[in-house]
Amino acid sequence: MANDVQSWRWDLTDLFPDVAAYETELKALTEKAGHFGRWREKLNDLDRDGFLELLREFEELSLLAHRLVAYAALEFYADSRSEAAQARFAHAQSQLGELSAKTLFFEVWWKHLEDAKAKALIEAAGHRYAYWLAEMRSWRPYTLGEEAERAITLKNTVARAQGKIYETINDRYTFAFEAEGKRIEAKKSELSRYTRHQNPAVRQAAYDAMLKRYREEAMILGELYRLVAEDWKNEYVKLRGFPTPISARNKMNDLPDAVVEALLKATEEGSQTFQVYFRLKARALGMKRLSRYDLYAPVGESERQYTFDEAVALVSEAFKQFDPEFEALMRQVIEARHIDVFPRDGKRSGAFSYGPVPGMTPYVLLNFQGQARDVATLAHELGHSVHSLLAASHPVFTFHPPLPLAESASTFGEMLLVDRLLETESDPRLRMSILFHQLDGFYGTILRQAYFARFEIEAHDLLTGGAPLEAVHSAYLKTLKDQFGDAVEVPEHFQYEWLMVPHFYHTPFYVYAYAFGQLLVLSLYRRYQTEGQAFVPKLKRILAAGGSQNPAELLQKEGFDIEDPGFWLSGFELIGEHVARLEAEMDRESE
Ligand SMILES: [Zn+2]
Repeated sequence: MANDVQSWRWDLTDLFPDVAAYETELKALTEKAGHFGRWREKLNDLDRDGFLELLREFEELSLLAHRLVAYAALEFYADSRSEAAQARFAHAQSQLGELSAKTLFFEVWWKHLEDAKAKALIEAAGHRYAYWLAEMRSWRPYTLGEEAERAITLKNTVARAQGKIYETINDRYTFAFEAEGKRIEAKKSELSRYTRHQNPAVRQAAYDAMLKRYREEAMILGELYRLVAEDWKNEYVKLRGFPTPISARNKMNDLPDAVVEALLKATEEGSQTFQVYFRLKARALGMKRLSRYDLYAPVGESERQYTFDEAVALVSEAFKQFDPEFEALMRQVIEARHIDVFPRDGKRSGAFSYGPVPGMTPYVLLNFQGQARDVATLAHELGHSVHSLLAASHPVFTFHPPLPLAESASTFGEMLLVDRLLETESDPRLRMSILFHQLDGFYGTILRQAYFARFEIEAHDLLTGGAPLEAVHSAYLKTLKDQFGDAVEVPEHFQYEWLMVPHFYHTPFYVYAYAFGQLLVLSLYRRYQTEGQAFVPKLKRILAAGGSQNPAELLQKEGFDIEDPGFWLSGFELIGEHVARLEAEMDRESE
């Protein structure tokens, strides 16, 4: 009965036994939040014990809120067609918004408290809350007076609209082209079906239609982006005093500027590894040289199917080989029935692992269809679950990993699985398809995003310095030529491609986080390969820290110096190994 659709839906009773219990607790939350308000009058005469009492109460309130939202969210993700679930989820979210409004006074007071007093209170609060409390205050040097902050908040209600305007404009676009004799009119979100099509003519037609449109719209979208860059610089550099536009984002990620520079520098050197890969990909496609049109062409898809039981067994073995506790923790998710496995109408697409509160077995959503990539997704999500469970000892404020470390256990889990598959699968075509899939993924998350970040740095500089849009297009084209070298031909009109990247508009300088997360894991995995079992406790300590320490310091303590480009280059060595392995498989195949 492994593939019985009903039998693999999650059990929410660990959160609340039923809807009635959920409703009762939701009412209790509102009352407790109101009661918390009494602290407002007492803040300035808090002693040690009072402060601790406040923190514990705040923690309890947050725990309850997280459980409530988890229940409503998970119920909704399992069946978005249920009106009752939809209403409960919306209501839970609005209650959460009200809760933060009611408790905001604490945060504001805490951020503005004088240093000596804050220091004494952090000491009194103890290790458990120390990083969270200090981290909130670390924004102090970049925080302005109350009037100025109010003005910025008001400014942002307008400035934040830029991302929305961008989306609205993009949603209106349709791209018309011919594909295999048929006339296609696709929305932006549907284009990747065609840019990743088997047929090269279809890929090219889709890209041409897309780039033609963005070229026509370059004036309006480009000027909109100039506003994004101006606004970012005004707020973060001119008003808040960050040295450069990207350093504001680095601060949000809790990463020193030097780390991000080291990462970007290493990817520049590492680009050559991908150039070797793209030459191999050209060979597999029977082309002399790859064109940018062919970058995402599918190669060697395999038909091998796995049942869910087989998938669980594979991930189990892969995790166990690394560490028995890793396996025990992933098994916990399956045994607690905290997993919803198969696709069905009304269920949310994609996959996630959701750890509502510290110590609770996380909930995993999949849309398992039995392909090798679905097995990899299972390993990825269960990696997230293991991460949550290892970090169970922290308060709800710091048990989630910070963004730079958020994908470490998941990607590591995926690497373990892929290695296992490459070891155990006897079909060379399947092994090749796994390697192609991996390497395409590495390119997309590492190199492409790192060069996006380089482009953003330059584009912000150009635009706020009054440069014409042509200079920005040229800068983008240069980042393409730099990353591909002579391995991939880049037609000129790809210079307009940057205009279709939403992140540039709604979250400036976000994209390098993808490269950071993925390459970090590859570099760590490289260490695992060389150090063997000695590496295991190091990774487990990093994961068990959750979000309770500064990421760079945490890694440093375990002997990983992320300010050193050499550390990042070791990740590229691993990619190089995959490329070499792929080449060997291809040679064998063509013999
Ligand atoms: Zn993930």
